[in-house]
Amino acid sequence: MALPSDDVDGSEARQVVGACYSRVKPAVVQDPKLIAFSDEISDLLGIAPEEVKRQEFVEILAGNNLLAGMDTHAACYGGHQFGHWAGQLGDGRAIALGEVVDINGRHQMLQLKGAGPTPYSRSADGLAVLRSSIREFLCSEAMHHLGVPTTRALSLVSTGEEVIRDILYDGNPRPEPGAIVCRVAPTFIRFGNFEIFAARGDHETLRQLADFTIATEFPDIDADDPDRYVALLRQVVERTADMIVEWLRVGFVHGVMNTDNMSILGLTIDYGPYGWLDNYDPNWTPNTTDAQHRRYRFGNQPAIGQWNLVQLANALFPLVEKVEPLQEALELYGRRFDSRWSEMMAKKLGLPSLEDSSDQALAEDALNVLQTVETDMTIFWRELSSVSCLESVEPLNRVQPLMRSIYDLDRITEEQKAVFIEFVENWAGRQRVLGTSEDVRRSSMDATNPKYVLRNYMAQVAIERAEQGDTSLVQEFLDLLKSPYAEQQEKDTYYALRPDWARTKTGCSQLSCSS
Ligand code: AMP
Ligand code: MG
Repeated sequence: MALPSDDVDGSEARQVVGACYSRVKPAVVQDPKLIAFSDEISDLLGIAPEEVKRQEFVEILAGNNLLAGMDTHAACYGGHQFGHWAGQLGDGRAIALGEVVDINGRHQMLQLKGAGPTPYSRSADGLAVLRSSIREFLCSEAMHHLGVPTTRALSLVSTGEEVIRDILYDGNPRPEPGAIVCRVAPTFIRFGNFEIFAARGDHETLRQLADFTIATEFPDIDADDPDRYVALLRQVVERTADMIVEWLRVGFVHGVMNTDNMSILGLTIDYGPYGWLDNYDPNWTPNTTDAQHRRYRFGNQPAIGQWNLVQLANALFPLVEKVEPLQEALELYGRRFDSRWSEMMAKKLGLPSLEDSSDQALAEDALNVLQTVETDMTIFWRELSSVSCLESVEPLNRVQPLMRSIYDLDRITEEQKAVFIEFVENWAGRQRVLGTSEDVRRSSMDATNPKYVLRNYMAQVAIERAEQGDTSLVQEFLDLLKSPYAEQQEKDTYYALRPDWARTKTGCSQLSCSS
């Protein structure tokens, strides 16, 4: 099955109607150099590491050289941005090279992000800077190893060309090094791909896209089932809920959950002004463009997931023409989210479930404790597993490991400390009733509470060094974050509170969409 393509060639900006994609060639860049690549993805694709490093191959990863059979294209999609319909968006700077079959027999799409203008570039340049490319490359691989559904990245290539960006949108544009990430996912289809055809009343193309998506990505849905579009929505609802629960588990804030950045596969996609919670603050968002309303703040992500799914349901409506089944599919979201969230929190706490109301209360208490004083989310959860539950341990000693997670320990009051102690005593008491051995509990909690995440300041340091010509930290973080749950004691400088200088620094706590 093939999707309808644009019959106009070339990259001139335009409205593309009646087509799912446009054929377009990547721009040629001056001096492409491989900065880093994921050996796991090259393995998955059956490409030997030596092959990836060969300059001929780097030219492909930069879009300079196309192999026979590569049908390069950019997809047409629309989207709701910050709650408002934005019309046609599309791959403005992402060009797909085509699909390959991986070593497991599954198809994978390879896509170059930052490879030059497309019909969807509007007034922008189609390029990406090194800064944002490092962030996408490292974070998508890190997320995978954390067990969060995500698109992957094969490679990070610098282009040898300069790209002009005004990082703070304050009238100070400056040249930055350009780069291209080769992203990999079974498909990059987003909610917005469906929305654009529904918005234009182009139900024929909408149906083709939905049938294509079902046939290629959802093989367990019967292609002849009259209710297949509802079945599709149900699966997307579940996957989206599951993905967002995982974000909450590890402290990830996507930052731009527009419907054009929501994958139909429930993968985390489009790493822009994302961020990681250092101190646990559900109201935090890294995205300066969203600073006023904080629509995409950490704690609002579950609600936005649902809002976005409503837009997808609206887009599928012309194919279903009945409200109730779509409504029912949407109602799955809350149930799915709640049950997955409870399972996730139980695991973080080392409990079998949260079925018991006192266990539910423990989960709520944990989140309250985290907000009593500025407390590092990653360190708090990780240290909880090393808290001893033995009855003989004094409360003041028992709580000690958690004190490491507090940002301003000198200023903690007795009352605040008492909140920590009360929680830990309750939790330890519950663990004694469960009777799991300390070792077993610790290793199971350590498998869900990561020790290392791509802290905002880490990415920033890697970027600043790379911009000075030293890309070694990119490789170091790629390696470190391959095993985020392992002890890796020699890397303990990255298992530490965010340094003070990073608290309010651009790139660390605040990011714009400029990329
Ligand atoms: P994003 O906020 O990165 O998800 O991008 C929103 C839309 O803007 C998408 O259609 C992108 O393809 C497009 N876009 C973002 N940056 C650029 C750029 N530098 N050149 C062309 N299009 C872009
Ligand atoms: Mg996007």
